[in-house]
Amino acid sequence: MEPRLTGIRAVLFDLGDTLFRLHPMDFAGAHDRFARLMSARLGLHPSEAAAATAEVSRQLREDLRALQQTGSTAEPSIAESSLPLFDSFGADAPWLAAALDQAFGEADIARWDAPAGRAEDVRRFAESGLRVAFVSNTQTPPALMRRRLAEFGLLEMADAAVFSVEVGERKPGEHIYRAALESLSVDPAQALFVGDRVREDILGPQSLGMRAVLTHEFRQEDPAGLNPARVIHSLTALWEIL
Ligand SMILES: [Mg+2]
Repeated sequence: MEPRLTGIRAVLFDLGDTLFRLHPMDFAGAHDRFARLMSARLGLHPSEAAAATAEVSRQLREDLRALQQTGSTAEPSIAESSLPLFDSFGADAPWLAAALDQAFGEADIARWDAPAGRAEDVRRFAESGLRVAFVSNTQTPPALMRRRLAEFGLLEMADAAVFSVEVGERKPGEHIYRAALESLSVDPAQALFVGDRVREDILGPQSLGMRAVLTHEFRQEDPAGLNPARVIHSLTALWEIL
């Protein structure tokens, strides 16, 4: 049996592909829903609304890719990012940007798939006296994130839920981890980060002095060249080491 990790007072969990599986996003469904709203709002022919939606979505993805390629960890909301792309619609632009934000957010939370009993799995950490936080990279509106986490019974298990779109910075930028640690009132050396992504969930936390566990429950990133505290295949494996 592996030796226990000592001195841990808090566990910070990534969300997608760590606490629940993320199925592929239904972009087509989100586009259709938004295009219908756009058509109704502006009195556009459905085919015009569909074409405008496709173009805004394409530009949005391109802009976000370009932003991330600069090495930036900034996390603007979909509403902020898409607002300039709706310029040609004048006074309706803010409404359209907010509606697109909501449509993409709904499509995102619809693809979450949590294993049975997952909230109880997380409750066990809290009941053993550990503080619990969720730290997620997401552009989905925080109100939708919290609503869906509550549906899964997960929201009430966390002492803090920190979303990149709310902080304005993505993992592995340090601000988002610091926001979570501050909410929990723990030092990095007292915190264990658990996640499925090497860069965001292992390297970033370790650079601040946290310990980090890589989970292979839903995705399997190769930790070669790294030194995660553990690689686990199910969340319950953590019970044996904390
Ligand atoms: Mg993840």
